[in-house]
Amino acid sequence: MNIHEYQAKQLLRRFGVPVPRGDVAHNPAEAESVAEELDGPVWVVKAQIHAGGRGKAGGVKVCRSIKEVTATADQMLGMKLVTHQTGPEGRLVRKVYIEQASDIARELYVAQLINRTTGGVTLIASTEGGMDIEEVAASHPDKIIRLDMPPATPMRAFQARRVAFALGLKEREVHKFVRLAMAVNKAFRSLDAVMIEINPLVVTGVGRLVALDCKMVFDDNALFRHSDIQDLRDDNEVDPLELEAARHDLNYVKLDGDIGCMVNGAGLAMATMDIIQHYGGQPANFMDIAGAATKERVACAFKLIFNDPGVRGILVNVFGGMMRCNSIAEGIVGAAREVGLDRPLVVRLEGTNVELGREILQKSGLPIITATTLADAAQKIVAATSGKVVAAGQGRV
Ligand code: ADP
Ligand code: MG
Repeated sequence: MNIHEYQAKQLLRRFGVPVPRGDVAHNPAEAESVAEELDGPVWVVKAQIHAGGRGKAGGVKVCRSIKEVTATADQMLGMKLVTHQTGPEGRLVRKVYIEQASDIARELYVAQLINRTTGGVTLIASTEGGMDIEEVAASHPDKIIRLDMPPATPMRAFQARRVAFALGLKEREVHKFVRLAMAVNKAFRSLDAVMIEINPLVVTGVGRLVALDCKMVFDDNALFRHSDIQDLRDDNEVDPLELEAARHDLNYVKLDGDIGCMVNGAGLAMATMDIIQHYGGQPANFMDIAGAATKERVACAFKLIFNDPGVRGILVNVFGGMMRCNSIAEGIVGAAREVGLDRPLVVRLEGTNVELGREILQKSGLPIITATTLADAAQKIVAATSGKVVAAGQGRV
């Protein structure tokens, strides 16, 4: 789960990490009163969307009077901000954050994240803050500082100190960095985060260290023990189809392709996506309907995929273990009748009651294309959506 910058900063403040004073505003009048509460003479108005790259896209503006703050908030609220992370459709700005401007001497990058290889937390830092870290890693890998911490151990002061020296911090700044990095690590561990990224972490003219931007991502599987974090969820920032899927306990992630996939089991879902690409197609989503899905959930998953206007055809690939193929077939037929099957549908069923399942599909009278193997299924859906005969190796693997 993601949260907004202003919420992440409130959490950082709670753990003792220095952040600029500021508050959120939903309209220009609120922006004005927030600005009046803060000491001027310079303020920053920041669009609150779940995407980075706002600075370059006009979503971060420095203002030199309260009047300018109000006018900027007025202009930003309601606009569609397009950054390199939002996609071309952009994101509607519904809130702005007004904060005190910092006097920036240096912009650094510091993040802590779960390292899936080591199973521990890794700290990534760089002297090149304020920029896209992926870009820095690609063009100047030598500018990336890494600290791998062993699993289940808090950060130690000596580890943070090493990073501070590698960042070239001055003597009086080193202990401030150590305190800050350890506080972020405490927040990370206590809140079950998977990433806390501070970009930029600035050194001010008088040698203070301040987190000017923060992105926090939490482990969805640990949210049950953080009701206060759950309350920070902003449904406006979540893809509506993903939101609907979550309501029905379906593991759904929207992707950019045009072949909808409905699969049971995450492993099979990944394999299905791979093989679609192998035959030159592009999956429109990841969908795991899970092992014990009912007829109703199958129908719901099917409708969800169908409701995505980018989907040109659907591939259903289900292995009936605990789940019976006849229930799956009933779910598909029911949903297909309801939505009106206007796009190609390829179904591959295997496992318990497979004969019964195939019979239900055949007798439905619907134009369902059946397939026997995974390769057969992928070839058929790619051919049906592209109008071409396909062979292996036409796509990216
Ligand atoms: P994004 O990462 O979405 O572009 P940031 O919050 O990192 O947004 O802001 C972009 C840039 O704007 C920062 O790198 C910094 O130079 C400047 N900036 C942001 N907040 C402040 C602030 N409070 N005071 C001064 N400059 C700021
Ligand atoms: Mg930033």
